[in-house]
Amino acid sequence: MAVDVRTMHLILLGAPGAGKGTQASYLREQWGLVHISTGDILRAEVREGTALGLEAKGYMESGALVPDDLIIRMMEERLGKLGAETGYVLDGFPRTVAQAEALQAMLERIGHTLNAVVNIDVADPELIRRLTGRRVCPNCNAVYHIDTMKPKVDGICDVCGSALIQRKDDQIEAITNRLAVYKSQTQPLIDFYQTRGLLVVIDGTIGVAQVGEKIRTALCGEVN
Ligand code: AMP
Repeated sequence: MAVDVRTMHLILLGAPGAGKGTQASYLREQWGLVHISTGDILRAEVREGTALGLEAKGYMESGALVPDDLIIRMMEERLGKLGAETGYVLDGFPRTVAQAEALQAMLERIGHTLNAVVNIDVADPELIRRLTGRRVCPNCNAVYHIDTMKPKVDGICDVCGSALIQRKDDQIEAITNRLAVYKSQTQPLIDFYQTRGLLVVIDGTIGVAQVGEKIRTALCGEVN
């Protein structure tokens, strides 16, 4: 049965630096999917100095995961606001088996169907190159790279003109930690979704438009 890409409920899985955020932005622009990034939501909470932000900050800066109960509550609130006909892409959630189980229960409760879990596959040396060179806009969350995705004016966001920054967790000590956390806590989700018949594995080095096309082909078949 053909799936309408605009109403899809997708999860993007992948190590830090695999390009989940970039890919999710592309799917938002191309297919109109709502992009829900737990990392972006948490960073906004930290910026605003909320109770959740204050609690999450230390974990985030060291590259550790924020405790499951906080994340699950935050996502219940966020997803509960969306109608089942609204397509969305989850970027950075779930990140543990406990979160995946909670998500499953949440989706059943609110009557949403998960269409696919896309694992964006990228080898470690490339992940490290991407993360160490990443610069972000603290205002609008646009993402750049010092070699491969330079802004038009050095150090300045093309979209909103703010000064770009390097995230604390994109510094090498935190990156090493984040990759280890990914392997021990998030990688088991590949099997979790494989056994549920939802996993689509895609080479994350082929470019966002090509990844988008592969997702479409995997879910809807070839476009004639
Ligand atoms: P990201 O931008 O997705 O790499 O997330 C940045 C940081 O936010 C992560 O290193 C974690 O500290 C925290 N974070 C984001 N999503 C989650 C999640 N689903 N579970 C736990 N911590 C998370």
